Amino acid sequence: MPTVYLETFGCQMNELDSQLVSSRLRTLGYTFTPQADSADVVLYNTCSVREHAEQKVWSRLGELALRKARQPGLVVGVLGCMAEREGEGLIRRMPVVDVMAGPAELDRLPELLDNALKTRRALLAESATQHLLMTPEGIRPDLTLLRSAGQVALHGDTGRRSSTLAAAADQLELLDLSRSTSPDEHSGSAYVRITRGCNKFCTYCVVPFTRGAEVHRPPEHIIDECKRLADAGVIEITLLGQTVNHYRFEHDAATIVDGVVQPQKGRAYVHRRGVHEDPYKREKGERVTTFADLLYRIHEEVPSVRRLRFVTSYPRSFGDDVLQVIRDCPRICRYLHVPAQSGSDRMLRAMNRGYSVGEYLEFIDRARQHLHQPEIGRPLTIAGDIIVGFPGETEEDFLATADLLRRVRYKNCFIFKYSPRPGTVAHERLTDDVPDPVKRRRNYELLTLQAQISDEVSREYIGSELDVFVQSLSKRQSRRQRQTGALAATEHRSLIRLTVSAAGTHARPGDQSPHDDQGCCATHEKIEHTGPSEPEDHTLPVQMSARSDGDLIVFIDAPPGTPPDALIGSIVRVRVESASGLALHARPV
Ligand code: SF4
Repeated sequence: MPTVYLETFGCQMNELDSQLVSSRLRTLGYTFTPQADSADVVLYNTCSVREHAEQKVWSRLGELALRKARQPGLVVGVLGCMAEREGEGLIRRMPVVDVMAGPAELDRLPELLDNALKTRRALLAESATQHLLMTPEGIRPDLTLLRSAGQVALHGDTGRRSSTLAAAADQLELLDLSRSTSPDEHSGSAYVRITRGCNKFCTYCVVPFTRGAEVHRPPEHIIDECKRLADAGVIEITLLGQTVNHYRFEHDAATIVDGVVQPQKGRAYVHRRGVHEDPYKREKGERVTTFADLLYRIHEEVPSVRRLRFVTSYPRSFGDDVLQVIRDCPRICRYLHVPAQSGSDRMLRAMNRGYSVGEYLEFIDRARQHLHQPEIGRPLTIAGDIIVGFPGETEEDFLATADLLRRVRYKNCFIFKYSPRPGTVAHERLTDDVPDPVKRRRNYELLTLQAQISDEVSREYIGSELDVFVQSLSKRQSRRQRQTGALAATEHRSLIRLTVSAAGTHARPGDQSPHDDQGCCATHEKIEHTGPSEPEDHTLPVQMSARSDGDLIVFIDAPPGTPPDALIGSIVRVRVESASGLALHARPV
């Protein structure tokens, strides 16, 4: 069977999509390689939210065009939001691409790949026997036929689904239901999707167009998936949704196809401005699973999951019921990623965010009242997103955003410089009128301010004890081992994951972005936290990278005699000894 190289750009949602796709392909006999050069099939799972990610893919495709001239049997695929947004234009610009599948069509990828591979093999055989060229070196097959034929372009479904039945026909659910729980794919931590798509239409964002309308998965499917992952050794689960707290499944409206309960389209709610209300709560007599219900059920029904977290929260419509469940369930992490995007009401209106700065701060204060309990070792940490240089942003708007950062004191914040994304309302209707040098200056000033705040927040932990989930060798440790040629089995295991999941963009909530373009909910690219650089000393203990309950990055040294592999995927009690920037340095107790 062909070998596949799969590289993912962008976000946790894309990373999960890549895991599901690779699971499916493995069960069909495909094998995966971390080396693009030796693969028969090269797939890029892409993100359109930020221009930076798309540019990387264009560059990779340019390189593949040269390679395909030498290796005409190579099959190249572009998956995800970029395939959806660019459509046929992508193939016209890059004829090297054989297969495209948007986020809503990934269930069809095996069929498309099979078709593309067979087509290319047939054309190759035909060229070898029937299309021969005389060259100075002798007779050889004419492969030009292969360079322009055999493409299987599946245009993304850009039409938003308009009915519950259309959502019910969503075959993507099968992809989630059939996921593999192999330890090679999770290392003790896994993502579980609870909703797809988004109904918000923020003016800068492509997600509602590329991923479609908000669709909620049946709670039984989600809980069953969590149980299967837990049985396979997963102890940390992150629930994913673009607006994760909007989750709501109405059992009386559920549809069943071939005996399987189908995902359900999200409902549009009217919001009364200035009044806190929870439109997502259960009304009397309704058979509904709300987000609070879902969190509680997973916590109670899957007790071997020791950490349950979720991203990304939408600041409006976040009910007290969710906060109460988090407070009462000790294994739900006290961490909220709640993008504000701006500290100016004028900008929030232009972005169509649907809340004011006052409403955002009301939510932050309410969350802290419910959840901040440092006296029992459980402080609440909050991460955010900010866009600078949105059309029309004045110096006054910018200063209001800086005030918001000071007021909220995020443990970290993704700060992005606005760039218009084709297909969005802002691109079509608003003039990108903030000069680039001004955007850069504002971006830099906010990053500097947030770095100070992050440093202060991190230092508050010095001397405290935390439970941390050990994820991997630290980047510094990996670099040391690569330099000495001692690539441990530990890292080999990580490499397998990277190949099928992120290839260096292993996005996590809580990473502070140095990049330029704006983000959207649940889409962030990883920062490499390497710790302070120092001369290599191979007598140093093995340094591991871990995360606290509040998603703080914690570096610890493996105790002497403990193989690093034995620590990965476990939760360890540590005492924080020092802090710098976004990272804590701790020692196991
Ligand atoms: S920024 Fe988030 S809430 Fe707004 S449209 Fe994009 S995904 Fe939806």
